[in-house]
Amino acid sequence: VEEALRQSQKMEAVGQLTGGIAHDFNNMLAAVIGPLDLLAMRLGETDPLVTRYIDMAIDGANRAAQLTQRLLAFSRQQPLQPVPVDANRLVAGMSDLFVHSLGSNIRLETSLASDLWLTFADANQLESVILNLVVNARDAMPSGGHLAVQTSNCPVDVASTDLHPGIPRGDYILVTVADDGVGMSQDVIAKAFDPFFTTKQVGQGTGLGLSQVYGFVKQSAGHVKLCSTIGEGTTVKLYLPRLVADAAVVDAPVAVESALPD
Ligand code: ADP
Repeated sequence: VEEALRQSQKMEAVGQLTGGIAHDFNNMLAAVIGPLDLLAMRLGETDPLVTRYIDMAIDGANRAAQLTQRLLAFSRQQPLQPVPVDANRLVAGMSDLFVHSLGSNIRLETSLASDLWLTFADANQLESVILNLVVNARDAMPSGGHLAVQTSNCPVDVASTDLHPGIPRGDYILVTVADDGVGMSQDVIAKAFDPFFTTKQVGQGTGLGLSQVYGFVKQSAGHVKLCSTIGEGTTVKLYLPRLVADAAVVDAPVAVESALPD
């Protein structure tokens, strides 16, 4: 319990620090990208080489902006737009993305619970979080393996609280991403959610994937559980709060619709 408290205090402190930096850095980037865009327009097609250099600069600045977005997501300073989400439809809608991200040596098994409850979350962020987990699972199985993506209804109550240590009672939907890859040591597990912590080679990982996951679940009033054993694999569980039945929501299927990617 003490360790958990220490960990959450650390995450708070790191979150405040990175959030402050990312916020200011984002403003500075806007001051770079804006004039570059204007310059590109002004110069038009006059000199293809100049256009190329400007495009490269804009590209670089945009990549930096994406990085700050992930930092802001971690520090929960990124405004989310929660809507009622059917995680089954969201996961189903990602199947092309999965195929595209995974090599043929990884066997993907998706199992979607019937009658899954709705949750209330930012659909784009949730998609990005699930993709982060899938990409991590892929990277953990360089010579192939088995990847399971699962949804389920998960009531945490008197009867089931032992199965979900540390998760406050309540109704959740569970999104589970499990691999049978290399697994993580205790050391790596302890640092896995830290921004910029990565064991991957330079250029392969930014160390922001799980930080983004952490920020997202915190901001969505959810929880994340990481279980990993070296040589056996890793399971990440996202607990997202069940959307409490609400007449306004039932009457507004459009909102559910707009939560889903095309
Ligand atoms: P990145 O993927 O850019 O390294 P993450 O924050 O997503 O950043 O992950 C941090 C580290 O946690 C990874 O470098 C890796 O060591 C470890 N990790 C994350 N997911 C898994 C997994 N499914 N299996 C094994 N290790 C993992």
